[in-house]
Amino acid sequence: MSISFHIDSSSGQARGGRLLTPHAEIETPVFMPVGTVGSVKGVPQDILEDLGAQIILGNTYHLYLRPGVATVRKLGGLHGFMAWRRAILTDSGGFQVFSLNELRKVTEEGVTFRSHLDGSSHFFSPESAMEAQIGLGADIIMAFDECTEYPVDRARMRASMEMTARWAARSKKYFEEHKREVPWGEVSSLQFPVSGPKGSGNQKLETGNSTQSLFGIIQGGMDRELRKESAERTIEIGFPGYAIGGLSVGEPRELTREIIESTLEHLPKDKPRYVMGVGTPDEIVEYAGLGVDMMDCVLPTRAARHGLLFTSEGKVSIKQARYAQDSGPLDPKCGCRVCQRYSRAYLRHLYASNEVLAQVLNTIHNLSFYLDTMRRVRHSISLGEESRFLASLWSRPKS
Ligand SMILES: [Zn+2]
Repeated sequence: MSISFHIDSSSGQARGGRLLTPHAEIETPVFMPVGTVGSVKGVPQDILEDLGAQIILGNTYHLYLRPGVATVRKLGGLHGFMAWRRAILTDSGGFQVFSLNELRKVTEEGVTFRSHLDGSSHFFSPESAMEAQIGLGADIIMAFDECTEYPVDRARMRASMEMTARWAARSKKYFEEHKREVPWGEVSSLQFPVSGPKGSGNQKLETGNSTQSLFGIIQGGMDRELRKESAERTIEIGFPGYAIGGLSVGEPRELTREIIESTLEHLPKDKPRYVMGVGTPDEIVEYAGLGVDMMDCVLPTRAARHGLLFTSEGKVSIKQARYAQDSGPLDPKCGCRVCQRYSRAYLRHLYASNEVLAQVLNTIHNLSFYLDTMRRVRHSISLGEESRFLASLWSRPKS
């Protein structure tokens, strides 16, 4: 057993389902908070559980550089190390290697890059990226892909897409030969309880005989034909799930949607589909409506640290002086622990005073807003009301 995916309901193109991973059952469509270095910045794991986070992301590039894969492996993999019993997905490291490194050198074999921490030289190949991800031990891991800049000419994009397909085959080969080496057998001396409501990612499945699942990534830039070819080649290699990568890189939003919609047509309906690195609250609703099952984005956490909050009344920039004496809640329609307890004036004061608590509370609210939004999407799909929900969301005032 690695994963299994069941679609329980659908509405238009949208699907509501369950993704069973070795560490948790996940209700889809799902939003995955990003925990770059083994931490969703500012939010302790027990609060993530209370918010209903079913699966979180870890970044292979960051964890590989610090504290190092061997250390994480020794401490029971990422689950044991960060005391998180629900599901985890790691990216392949490719995106950071390409986005954080100006001095990288790409060959067919792999990528040489410099650490953003100390300038030391490192090398990632499909094989070493798999080795790192097996050592980290997430439930779902990603094939190593090349991420191109945007905009990019078609010849360069084609060459990159073709190399990504060859790298996907190498990723799978290495994974199949080494997937039993996952560090799930080690038992931590710490017994950490799982808090939060039952049935929301709490289910612990037997990890004894299970392995990770490796997903393939579709590339091809903003070219529908290249995307189609990338999908066909990746499906031919065969993966239990497929991601659409290389989006949200500066292209206009209409183009993102167009590429997602056209690429989804070429992906198997019975496998989970993951769009990497999106988006705003209305975008994640829109993409779920197109039939996307999984999404992740740094936006709710990163924006929160800059005082930008997503609410049912649109975006709120809490740093503004207009909130200095506002005794009302951040979002009157939000049931999160921040909106239930604190005023806009207090949140504004914390931000203006550069208090750590500002980042913590802002992040908790934004994540809560995203996770609640997806919960409502799932509920609407189960009732067959997807289109009505979309219409009501889009009629919101935008600031
Ligand atoms: Zn709230």
